[in-house]
Amino acid sequence: KILVVGSSNTDLVLRSSKLPKPGETVTGGQFFQFQGGKGANQAVAAAKLGGQVSFLAKVGDDAFGKQALAEYQTYGLDTKHVIIDSTAATGVALILVDENGENSISVASGANANLLPEDILAAEELIRSSDLILAQLETPLSTIEALSDLAFKHQKKMILNPAPVMDLPQKLLQKLYFITPNEHEASYLTGEKVDSIDTAKRAAEILIGQGVKNVLITLGASGSYYLGEEGEFHTPAPKVKAMDTTAAGDTFNGAFLVSLAEGKAFDEAIKFASQAAAISVTRMGAQVSQPFRKEVSI
Ligand code: ADP
Repeated sequence: KILVVGSSNTDLVLRSSKLPKPGETVTGGQFFQFQGGKGANQAVAAAKLGGQVSFLAKVGDDAFGKQALAEYQTYGLDTKHVIIDSTAATGVALILVDENGENSISVASGANANLLPEDILAAEELIRSSDLILAQLETPLSTIEALSDLAFKHQKKMILNPAPVMDLPQKLLQKLYFITPNEHEASYLTGEKVDSIDTAKRAAEILIGQGVKNVLITLGASGSYYLGEEGEFHTPAPKVKAMDTTAAGDTFNGAFLVSLAEGKAFDEAIKFASQAAAISVTRMGAQVSQPFRKEVSI
């Protein structure tokens, strides 16, 4: 069983000919609404790929929150543990996009900021009954630390996708089974500029030195680099025509967990994740672009 702990946002996207300047009104746009948030994206990715996934998150007692849960359920995601917070609005990202794809984004984290350590403590039974736990950093760091403490107490494997990146205490790093930064996040965490397999290796060595068991650095179209208990390897990404790389990393993480939950060796699980992520970048959007199990050939 997989448990994903993290954010749920409603993305409100308005595409128009140009981005408005302060005080300016631009008309003639086209509006789209999507479910987003890294937590939800990773949970949905895993559920669409056939994983048995529970989602621990917080949304507001509002229409966006209800809509989000209904949509997640259509993917088979267990939303029983999503907490409805009557004191905050569901997280929202307002995204303005112009005809060149240039964007301007403003986020109100809303209920995501209210997912607190006490909510993690209240979910101890859920944590105890899970095998693998996946988290990101769009909810308070104290919450993720509380999660790592409980995961450690119950000897559960916790995987952290450190996005958006921030300084992480060593006592958190020491409790992680895996950390899965992209190039930018790995650079921030280690001070080593990661832009190649060699530099990824150096960054991974630093993270291993800080106590993480396994490090998996994603390198965009160049694939990923792994260092840890099962040795080291570079996994190339399948060559595809990229349309929209939004949530490539989220799809990769969700897929990786599904394969780990099936007991696959790390190299197999990473190949599966690479294929799922490659499919997602050939299509527009985040959750809607993620593949179902039958679309992945391994
Ligand atoms: P993030 O989306 O977090 O920035 P990356 O850009 O590193 O993360 O992408 C995560 C994974 O998605 C990569 O390791 C790779 O497997 C896959 N991926 C990303 N971009 C492409 C691409 N253009 N072609 C094929 N696979 C890709």
